[in-house]
Amino acid sequence: MITRNATINLDAIEHNFNIAAKLAPQSKVIAIIKSDAYGHGLIPVAKKLPGAEAFGVSVIEEALELRANNISQKIILLTGANTIEEIELCAQHDIDVVVHHRLHLELLSKQKTNRLISVWLKIDVGMHRLGFDGDEITEVFEQINQIKTVRKPIYLMSHLPNADRMNDPTTEEQIHIFRDHVEKFKVEASLAKSAGLLAWNQSHFNWVRPGVMLYGASPLVGKIGADHDLIPAMNFQAKIVSVRRLKAGDAVGYGGHWRCPEDMIVGIAGVGYSDGYPRHARSGTPIMVNNNICQLVGRVCMDMLAIDCRQTPDVKIGDNVLLWGEQLPIETVARHANTISYELMCHVSSRVKTIL
Ligand SMILES: *Cc1c(COP(=O)(O)O)cnc(C)c1O
Repeated sequence: MITRNATINLDAIEHNFNIAAKLAPQSKVIAIIKSDAYGHGLIPVAKKLPGAEAFGVSVIEEALELRANNISQKIILLTGANTIEEIELCAQHDIDVVVHHRLHLELLSKQKTNRLISVWLKIDVGMHRLGFDGDEITEVFEQINQIKTVRKPIYLMSHLPNADRMNDPTTEEQIHIFRDHVEKFKVEASLAKSAGLLAWNQSHFNWVRPGVMLYGASPLVGKIGADHDLIPAMNFQAKIVSVRRLKAGDAVGYGGHWRCPEDMIVGIAGVGYSDGYPRHARSGTPIMVNNNICQLVGRVCMDMLAIDCRQTPDVKIGDNVLLWGEQLPIETVARHANTISYELMCHVSSRVKTIL
């Protein structure tokens, strides 16, 4: 019996990709598969998306792994190459680099082979994480264009910090700033991640960069994947390993912070924070047992957690528990754990994953 299991539905990822592509029909798609495709499996996800014009990853190891598995599409190293060795590897394996710091100009000029590298010049429009300021961009653009091993034309990109809030006024301003730069240089450009793709049509430009929506979750505050016809690709399941009949006032779990309000049935599920279920999920977080919505109670343990089973009183050992998935939005669980769906997806332990 498989006692805990996160199944990955690759058909759902393909479906979600098609939705992303349709929402931006004029744009090419960079499927963002960094961090092991948000915990869904780098190579299986890449192979499932032959329609993606490009893939985005955050570390060179992932880019090289894609090439070693015969992925032939464009690959973009989103955090840039920070050593001469990484630049050489990018040139050798035809991996695009994001240039967001003056160090990168120096490294690109020092490349020893004459292989060409494609460059995405990153402008900071307000995120203040990576990128050049608006007033230095013209000079940097010209400098990059003088480097012989940089493939011309280069691309422009930026990142929106507040696009998950609809009607956010700073986002409109930042799209405007980016558009001004794009018009000045007349090159292809990319701004939108999932939130921009879903909520800000003016942010689409030539290339869109969906990440979390490919996996079936919504990045927008107060929304879930189903609101955009997305299908959650991860179904995180476990089994009931014990059933307890407890008395009113009985404390449940470490610290005894949660007490039974009446005589009741508590089910113990064989899954915990070592599998990737968030320890900070509060009592009251929804969990499904036998397709009934129940609630987490007490503190999550390493390999177990307790569930108020008053909604499914004939629960028994071996019954099915769903932590999140198609029938229970990951966004809802994330909200109860003071986090976002992204973190929950990434943290599911690889030892419990099965790819369908
Ligand atoms: C992670 C990332 C994305 C994707 O963001 P989502 O919100 O998951 O769609 C896009 N662009 C860059 C540069 C990223 O780092």
